[in-house]
Amino acid sequence: MRPPSVDALSRSLSDIDLPSPLLVEAARTAIGNNDPDSARVEAVKLQRALLGPAINATGVLLHTNLGRAPLDYQQAPQATNLEFDLSTGNRGSRNDHVANLICKLGGAEAALVVNNCSAAVTLVLAALARNRAVAVSRGELVEIGGGFRVPDVMAESGAQLIEVGTTNRTRVADYQAAHRLHDTALLLKVHPSNYKISGFTEEASIGSLSVVGPPVVADLGSGLIDEACHWLRDGKPSWLRDEPAVKQTLEAGADLVTFSCDKLFGGPQAGIIAGRKDLVAACASHPLMRAFRPGALVLSALQQTALAYLRRDGDAIPFWRMAQTSVIELEARAEALGVGSPVRTMSMTGGGSLPGEEFPSAGVAIDGDVSDALRNAEVPVIARVRDHSTVLDLRTVNPDDDALVAKAVASSI
Ligand SMILES: *Cc1c(COP(=O)(O)O)cnc(C)c1O
Repeated sequence: MRPPSVDALSRSLSDIDLPSPLLVEAARTAIGNNDPDSARVEAVKLQRALLGPAINATGVLLHTNLGRAPLDYQQAPQATNLEFDLSTGNRGSRNDHVANLICKLGGAEAALVVNNCSAAVTLVLAALARNRAVAVSRGELVEIGGGFRVPDVMAESGAQLIEVGTTNRTRVADYQAAHRLHDTALLLKVHPSNYKISGFTEEASIGSLSVVGPPVVADLGSGLIDEACHWLRDGKPSWLRDEPAVKQTLEAGADLVTFSCDKLFGGPQAGIIAGRKDLVAACASHPLMRAFRPGALVLSALQQTALAYLRRDGDAIPFWRMAQTSVIELEARAEALGVGSPVRTMSMTGGGSLPGEEFPSAGVAIDGDVSDALRNAEVPVIARVRDHSTVLDLRTVNPDDDALVAKAVASSI
């Protein structure tokens, strides 16, 4: 029998929600494989390769592979005053709208928004320490997932890394010696956000470094904005106890801090440089800034997040809403799902923040490994498998998606 034409085969797939060039590609692949009947499977494969929603039932709140902090944001099809000063009618700055809000939240003199925290650190080093020495403790030569390694970032930005102290103990005197010997442009503290050094350890405080001489830069990474956590109903949770915050780090004497916006800040992917006005201005006028600047979509979503903090409304920030949902509420949702067996679980923040910190949560467990079937559901559900059972943690699931989770589980068993 003659194989069907690509055209006829692709038209038989027209009920699948894909533009026709992609349906033609699926038909071609199937015919090329001498298996025209597989055209539908090929088309569905193409559909699932698109960027799309997924339900995070892992209990890891900031899952890097699932997009870190979830967002509740929509852009209207309208122009914006991105770089337009409405009071004068002249050109404005895209940075100012949201930077002012970040300054208020973090008690900073000035702030600059870039594409992510890696860009923030790179820009700080390039603008303030090119061809100069920067002192970093040997215990803080961090690698964050995805290839951000402090020594490599230093090299790329043209700064010379001066390692000080030892892996477990670094004192102010180590930074002082490095400064005398190498005329350091900056002292850089890097928050070891994804690992812990414990036991016989010592590190120099921000306050003690602030009197050595050069500006002190703290790469905080995680981006907890204020230890006071005024936006949470019950204040600061115990799992945040060791987490340095932007406001307090600046108060302690840091000249600049850098942090991600899609970790504990709970916003879109972006990075912030905040602190001394003259140093932020030097970063803002560096040629790399043009390559690192975010667009209106990101800036608007970031502004929405910042406004929610100023309203002290943690529930308006999906990350904090997930974090402060009570176990009782999660247990009730687990019961209401009507599938699997309700279980107590442990959630964690993830996203390279707060290593080892877990907090109680709840969800359902299903016998055996059904993670493949869950992943293949209409809206993919991502779950954890442990000890021959599949566990779905409801803390990281938007309650609006519970029905989809129940449906996916019911058809996976
Ligand atoms: C996460 C992190 C970074 C990288 O941030 P991105 O926003 O992912 O680029 C840099 N430094 C520290 C300390 C971090 O925790």
